[in-house]
Amino acid sequence: MLIACRSSRGTLSVLILLLMLGTLECVAKDPSYESQSPQKAGTAANRIQPDPEITAALKEISAARIQQTIAKLVSFSTRSTLSVNNPGADTADQGIVAARKWIKSEFERYSADCGGCLEVKTDTFIQPVVPRVPQPTELQNVYAILRGTDPAQAKRIFLVTGHYDSRNKETNNSTNPAPGANDDGSGTAVSLECARVLSKHKFPATIVFLTVAGEEQGLLGSGHFAKTVKEQGWDLEGVLNNDIVGGNNTPGDSLQKPDVVRVFSEGLPAAASEADLRRIRSVGGENDSPSRELARYIQEVGAAYNFGSFAPMLIFRRDRYLRGGDHSAFNDQGFAAVRFTEYREDFHHQHENPRTENGIEFGDLLKFVDFNYVANVARLNAATLASLAAAPAPPGKVRLMTAGLENDSKLQWEPAAGAAAYEVLWRSTTDAFFPEANVKRTTETKVDLDESKDNVIFGVRSVDAKGHRSLIVIPEPDRGGQPTAER
Ligand SMILES: [Zn+2]
Repeated sequence: MLIACRSSRGTLSVLILLLMLGTLECVAKDPSYESQSPQKAGTAANRIQPDPEITAALKEISAARIQQTIAKLVSFSTRSTLSVNNPGADTADQGIVAARKWIKSEFERYSADCGGCLEVKTDTFIQPVVPRVPQPTELQNVYAILRGTDPAQAKRIFLVTGHYDSRNKETNNSTNPAPGANDDGSGTAVSLECARVLSKHKFPATIVFLTVAGEEQGLLGSGHFAKTVKEQGWDLEGVLNNDIVGGNNTPGDSLQKPDVVRVFSEGLPAAASEADLRRIRSVGGENDSPSRELARYIQEVGAAYNFGSFAPMLIFRRDRYLRGGDHSAFNDQGFAAVRFTEYREDFHHQHENPRTENGIEFGDLLKFVDFNYVANVARLNAATLASLAAAPAPPGKVRLMTAGLENDSKLQWEPAAGAAAYEVLWRSTTDAFFPEANVKRTTETKVDLDESKDNVIFGVRSVDAKGHRSLIVIPEPDRGGQPTAER
């Protein structure tokens, strides 16, 4: 008897199954991740479990609030980074100085509402002359810290960011309108809304809500921030960058998908050393950067919580063609960072001077933003941040023991703060996701599995008693002190 099953990669595989004892099963491998079209993976016991407190927090996220935030940002007329140099910028109600003052006051308002739970800060510096900054220019990043409540975990940090600067057709124009409703009023609104809602809750680890300047002049604000926190030794486990998440509700765009947000992640880490690259080439680790595990985490969060038909679509690529974003500034410093962007961008509404030409309306205007869509993106961000900040630390020094030629697989790691158990996951080298079925749970810090390390990719994560999961850590090969060359 022939039964046709669709495999997890969407190619048709034909399985020949014998009908035995009157029972017949055709189990597609990991059907929940069969494709990346919006669907639910369900909440199998070995997946991220929805946390009732996080579910309640997500209900607080408001499309109306997000609309107010983006409208306010647009009201500054331009948020050109260079407008700080315009005469009267300090007292004007338009321009980037007015915008950053307002953002700071919003963070302070949220903090007042939670009894001072947020530390509101600025990161101010003088940017020297670079191609898109014709004179030394003051830049300011504005951020708020929700400090973790567990002394053992508070050093672990997760961060959400959007850029609050804007531009029109001329990169260095600092006076004409540059509404930047979508790019990146939408991402700034996601960061602010996550701060407003999550600040009403407590998490063992720390969450930082960041808004940066200077993105349009060359990732300058994020570059400075990422470099600074690297120098300060921040244990920054994950960065969510939201840039152009407005959903673009331009009438007549039949190819738009209003229930999909793209999540871009780098493959080879930008900060990988030559030794790292040699190891990655040797073990086939090109699809398992820390940024990619962060993206997989977002996919699992998207399946765990009820976002209706809305879901992330992972793009295994650093960014879109010809484009860049603030996540790359964090990648460059060795941090795991991903970019959220709407499914299909309308380039008439980005980096354009507002005008109508041949019946086409140009400009990044408020009316083209779908606030319900931005709210969904904010929910996915908030759920990811909350899940990560509630989770135990990832296991430390995860190693795959390769001292001898053998067909089984021995892994070991160091215990993680807050972990009640660990999950070892594995997938085929050609699979994009770790299937639900391939999980070995243990309370020890080592396993010995029959699965041959030559045929699969392993990952290990920590789990706490409530089902919170850490990011997945990919093991490094350990030859017991021997040189790592093949034989
Ligand atoms: Zn942007």
